[in-house]
Amino acid sequence: MARVFVITGPSGVGKGTLIRGLMERQPSLELSVSATTRDPRPGERDGVDYHFLTREDFDCRVREGEFVEHADYAGRSYGTLRSELEQRVREGVPVVLEIEVQGARQVRAAMPEAVQVFIAPPSLAALRTRLIGRGTDDATEVERRLGVAEGELAAQPEFRHVVVNDRLDEALARLSEIVAAELGEVAP
Ligand code: ADP
Ligand code: 5GP
Repeated sequence: MARVFVITGPSGVGKGTLIRGLMERQPSLELSVSATTRDPRPGERDGVDYHFLTREDFDCRVREGEFVEHADYAGRSYGTLRSELEQRVREGVPVVLEIEVQGARQVRAAMPEAVQVFIAPPSLAALRTRLIGRGTDDATEVERRLGVAEGELAAQPEFRHVVVNDRLDEALARLSEIVAAELGEVAP
């Protein structure tokens, strides 16, 4: 039975929003808290939104083999710590990873049984509007993320499940269906 769910797709597409909705519908799911070298945004809490690490600490943990996957994204490093996954996988607790595409590929290689869902925007223009509307990134950072997004969108055919996040309620229903089917349940 699939117990690891990888939700990937470009920044600003709505991964975080969809995952929040998914976890309300499927309370048995637990979220893997990623590590990053980027600075916390206002309101983000260490250990809750991310494990915020210094560059030295992150690189040291890479050398020690503490990551299941890690990648550089827009000039920062991000990664999934083994400690976020191992016990849950052992205990059969379903866990959700919200990661970018390079990391998703590494998880595919290491854990082919993990279920991977690519969240796609209805258009690049909509992605831009969402990134700007979120208000967390300045104009330079928005452009940088959109530049990365073009390459990420080209990776869509690698994924068995693609959910277009056009209308949020429809995308959430589709994502919930995929997860429920993999957990052997009917979507709530
Ligand atoms: P990600 O986690 O993929 O970077 P977010 O979940 O932060 O993306 O969403 C980016 C922005 O887009 C947020 O302001 C969110 O409210 C908005 N958003 C998410 N889904 C939709 C949607 N279907 N239609 C319009 N706006 C959306
Ligand atoms: P943000 O800075 O917006 O929080 O995240 C930037 C990108 O990094 C997003 O696409 C997000 O999904 C991705 N990301 C977050 N955590 C991880 C992780 O642990 N590993 C990888 N590979 N990407 C991550």
